[in-house]
Amino acid sequence: MTLADLPPLREVIARHGLAAKKSLGQNFLLDGNLLDRIARVPGPLAGTHVYEVGPGPGGLTRALLRAGARVTAVERDHRALPALAELAAAADGALTVVAGDALAQDDAGIAAGARVVANLPYNIGTALLVRWLTGPWPPWWASLTCMFQREVAERIVAAPGTAAYGRLAVLSQWRSIPRIAFDVPRQAFTPPPSVTSAVVHIIPTSPPAEIPVAMLERLTAAAFGQRRKMLRASLRALPGGIGALAAAGIDPSRRAETLTVAEFVAVAAAL
Ligand code: SAM
Repeated sequence: MTLADLPPLREVIARHGLAAKKSLGQNFLLDGNLLDRIARVPGPLAGTHVYEVGPGPGGLTRALLRAGARVTAVERDHRALPALAELAAAADGALTVVAGDALAQDDAGIAAGARVVANLPYNIGTALLVRWLTGPWPPWWASLTCMFQREVAERIVAAPGTAAYGRLAVLSQWRSIPRIAFDVPRQAFTPPPSVTSAVVHIIPTSPPAEIPVAMLERLTAAAFGQRRKMLRASLRALPGGIGALAAAGIDPSRRAETLTVAEFVAVAAAL
């Protein structure tokens, strides 16, 4: 069997008993055109390596393989493995399936240099993103193209002075460039989730300053932990925090959400 002869995804789901489990964040995409559109976001994939988290019945995996990628896919739900084995057989060596929890994988080892493309389980999406953004730099991944709840996508790309601006925006923007590629309505998923989703594309850049990411995390946690307060109050518990504000030339009466990403990096560098 080749990729073109594979049975429809609905049939695969029925035959392998893949009733969606909420605990595994399972909301499947079955529309081939939409899946091809997601696979186009990272650019041409022919001959590239793609790392997919949560292939499930394999809809997005099919689209990635159609685009000519070599795919390594990590799936936690053992029920999906026979369906993925059929897909791997049809893919003729282009698909490697890893059974297990994506949070426990040595992704930098098994997918070094890969583009990440995933319809992430919403319950671990942010944890995976933060892990990928806070690892050694330059990162092991060439780009991240992931589905998030629209509200999370807005927090990733948020600008200073907006309600969505916070720790996730700073971590996503200080040495990466994120953008929302497009929204995906609830009805596109089986079963539909309760909210709209969005595909986010992130590419890494050079950091403006070589600072320990842990320092930036501590700073943003303190600053946004009390986002309505002036920085002179919210940073009081952070050792060296007030001095670092002065060293970076930041008025301590400002609030966290008014600082640009560059200003956060300057304060973290002074810390
Ligand atoms: N890629 C498929 C699609 O687009 O239709 C399924 C996406 S569904 C939103 C999320 C997938 O992630 C499910 O197949 C689920 O079993 C899997 N998953 C959930 N938690 C996981 C984890 N910790 N590690 C790996 N896969 C996980």
